[in-house]
Amino acid sequence: MAGLYFHIPFCKQACHYCDFHFSTNQTLKSELVNQLATELSLQKEYLQGEPIETIYLGGGTPSLLTAHELEILFSSIQKNYPVADDVEITLEANPDDLNSQKLNEMKTAGVNRLSIGIQSFDENVLRFLNRAHTATEALGCVDAAHKSGINNISIDLIYSIPGPGQDEETLLKNLTTALSLHPNHISAYSLTVEEKTVFGQWASKGKLMAVEEDQSARQFELVMDALTQSGYQHYEISNYCLLGFQSRHNTSYWKGKKYLGLGPSAHSYNGETRQFNISNNHLYIKSIKNGVVPFELEELTTENKINEYLFTSLRTNWGCDLNYLKEQFDYDLASQNKPYLTQLLAGNLIELRDNTITLMRAGKLLADRIAADLFVEADNN
Ligand code: SF4
Repeated sequence: MAGLYFHIPFCKQACHYCDFHFSTNQTLKSELVNQLATELSLQKEYLQGEPIETIYLGGGTPSLLTAHELEILFSSIQKNYPVADDVEITLEANPDDLNSQKLNEMKTAGVNRLSIGIQSFDENVLRFLNRAHTATEALGCVDAAHKSGINNISIDLIYSIPGPGQDEETLLKNLTTALSLHPNHISAYSLTVEEKTVFGQWASKGKLMAVEEDQSARQFELVMDALTQSGYQHYEISNYCLLGFQSRHNTSYWKGKKYLGLGPSAHSYNGETRQFNISNNHLYIKSIKNGVVPFELEELTTENKINEYLFTSLRTNWGCDLNYLKEQFDYDLASQNKPYLTQLLAGNLIELRDNTITLMRAGKLLADRIAADLFVEADNN
């Protein structure tokens, strides 16, 4: 079983914190969709005939696609790939695009899961982030989605937002509002100030201070407590769901399943290599028109594979299986890191049960650091 990811690199406006690949000029959109359909056919051997169990349209802003553009993509998938009967089809949408007509078009095209980029229900915060939608649109879109019959709904929220007024009180209000809408799934991300963004420029000029680590940790705990106490399962550091509503697509990434990424800046993974498509809309279109998928290839070494497994598995509630590391890579993590693991266990940062390491509450605050400390060096196994 495998997944397909589409990168739709267009947005109405640039959010001040975003460093994904996108353009606010949509003149190439329909041409790019045609070339995505062509890329599907050029790459049809990549997944070696494995049935597609998840499809994810991300970006950028896939909710900018018209019914006709969705139809082009889905008919190319049907033509070139075997698709599982219970395929999960997720589309990332922004609240300002979700009117009843658009939602019906998505449903008719086959979309059965929405990931809505709400980020905040606070008008001031939305303006500060330069989001294209209003608080009223954020509030109305989940209801509208339910009415359309797309009932598997995830919403994205952001915390650790720098700037005045982005305090715990605002965050708590946001969480209360989010919970009142009863989404099946909530992704809550800590904002990182990235260099090549408006926030990054402001920070370099001293106009913006990133949120202190302590405050960020407090906000993470606040999110974790509010959501888990309301019945959401904390199944990955940034992801919470009601029982049975995990994102199947993202879970596949974290479990190391194969996927093909299509479009500018999309990545693909087949267990042995990663491919990175060019992050340029114009050059992508030109190359696909010439029958060539423009990507860079990275051969994964054993160390890469172990480190990727450590990084992703430690962020999940199923954890890092030491038997798997031994069987797959002949790597004995426990004996290589005895003093460090003893220290983590003594500090109640991790739990070791059935030869599987999972992070405890305090460890979740340090997930990436703990994984990095356990990484293997090139000649270490
Ligand atoms: S809509 Fe999404 S992809 Fe587009 S700029 Fe904002 S955060 Fe980035």
